[in-house]
Amino acid sequence: MVFSHSLGSESQFDAVFIGAGIMSSTLAALLYELEPEIRILIIERLEAPALESSAAINNSGTGHAANCEFNYTPISCDGNINIQKALDINHSFEISLEFWASLTELDRLSPSSFLHTLPHISFVYSEEDIGFLRERYTRLRATRPFKSMEWSEDKDELQEWIPLIINGRNPNEKVAATRMKRGTDIDFGALTSSYLNTLMNNGAVELRLSTEVIDIKKTNKDSWRLSLVNEKETYCVQAPFLFLGAGGGALNLLQKSGIPEGNSYGGFPVSGQWLVCNDSGITQQHNAKVYGKSALGAPPMSVPHLDTRWVDGEKSLLFGPFAGANTKFLKNGSSMDFFRSINPLNFSPMLQAGIKNFDLIMYLLGQVRLDHDAKIHSLKTFFPDVKSKDWTLAVAGQRVQIVKKTSQGGVLKMGTEVVTSSDGSLAALLGASPGASTAVSIMLEVLQRCWSEKMSTDGWQNRLRQLIPSFRLDINSDKALLEKIHQRTNSVLRLSS
Ligand SMILES: Cc1cc2nc3c(=O)[nH]c(=O)nc-3n(C[C@H](O)[C@H](O)[C@H](O)COP(=O)(O)OP(=O)(O)OC[C@H]3O[C@@H](n4cnc5c(N)ncnc54)[C@H](O)[C@@H]3O)c2cc1C
Repeated sequence: MVFSHSLGSESQFDAVFIGAGIMSSTLAALLYELEPEIRILIIERLEAPALESSAAINNSGTGHAANCEFNYTPISCDGNINIQKALDINHSFEISLEFWASLTELDRLSPSSFLHTLPHISFVYSEEDIGFLRERYTRLRATRPFKSMEWSEDKDELQEWIPLIINGRNPNEKVAATRMKRGTDIDFGALTSSYLNTLMNNGAVELRLSTEVIDIKKTNKDSWRLSLVNEKETYCVQAPFLFLGAGGGALNLLQKSGIPEGNSYGGFPVSGQWLVCNDSGITQQHNAKVYGKSALGAPPMSVPHLDTRWVDGEKSLLFGPFAGANTKFLKNGSSMDFFRSINPLNFSPMLQAGIKNFDLIMYLLGQVRLDHDAKIHSLKTFFPDVKSKDWTLAVAGQRVQIVKKTSQGGVLKMGTEVVTSSDGSLAALLGASPGASTAVSIMLEVLQRCWSEKMSTDGWQNRLRQLIPSFRLDINSDKALLEKIHQRTNSVLRLSS
């Protein structure tokens, strides 16, 4: 039986979301636009929203649109560059931009508080990588979303694009770069808070901070009972729909829910660090996100990049991430998280995934051994004149990569995965990447899988088309539509074209 999510049930809330990060807040914002009478309870174990992966300093803030990230254009078995993933990610990000533009027009968001336009640049400096980049550029530039991509091997031009990276290089060294001016830096923490403030002000969301969900059980009345604990008490709440937007904590909660769909999963934590520079003399000389190629065996999320960031409105530079290894599933979690997640159902798939990804484990161990000087040395390949004293180390957010039981054994997955119960009363989000940038598309998938009856009504369909004009349309094959959408989002969100 498909769960109907009838509003106004016996429970005080129509839905409970665990975790106050970008995912829960995006789902709440979408649901409010579709069903303004909805009452949602969001429970957060920390003292404020967006203190884990969604906090600006805990992620790279890249509006992932495949403008500059090499991992979205892998080489296929036939030796050619496959651009399909790049087109898909680009469209997903466009959906986020459309939603933010609509909320801006409705006066519910102010883009200047979370979004900065910033060129996205791919940079390479070896003969082989220049060949790869040229091929990537040629293939992407032939498609409509990437038609404004620029190419340069000219040092004078590159000096204007990325002076810190070009200055101090061997004059004989060959370099090349592509640039998309319509890139973004996003403070996902500020966006989370903006969503939540609006939703709390209009009465759609109640946010309970410093409150941890410690258990989840399905009752026999088609609802979920959650056990909560705060400083003063332990108590229960009930709701017909439950979203596990707990970031790295979602796997553990999914296992507690007991739904069979959760049995296929395990998680593998990867921690991270950045080098950060706040010296305005240096930060003023760089205005881009510059992605390089990752080292052999490195996971896609470890692609080195030198980024301009705006955190709490302050401009800084960030380089990394340097991957690390610890056993926490949340930055503010416990070292026991990983061990508690292992059970008889996922032990063997985890072991198989570990054996298959031995090079990744070796890479992570190598990264753990890097001291400050070694990290500065790695930055030197990007920024030859770097001075160690200008950079400090900051701890990034924790990622929990998914290990999934498949017919081929345990497989390590780098993306995100929506897991839902068969009756649609529970949804969980596992994995990290491309994450926050594509939160709107991911949450539309949650709605499609868990609120399918409502999603097929004219009311929801029409509202979704107002909010996201490209909803269910293939904008990449419709030139006029793509241009119209770009014009609107560029104008409302003040993006560079
Ligand atoms: C190093 C790094 C770099 C990244 N770079 C980018 C990037 O450039 N662009 C991009 O789009 N994405 C990026 N991401 C991914 C992005 O940050 C995440 O996908 C996104 O923030 C996840 O949001 P979330 O709401 O699911 O989780 P979170 O923001 O982690 O929020 C989960 C919340 O749940 C709470 N919680 C957990 N367990 C419980 C419990 N039992 N009870 C109550 N509350 C609980 C936590 O305290 C937390 O506040 C990056 C991630 C990392 C780690």
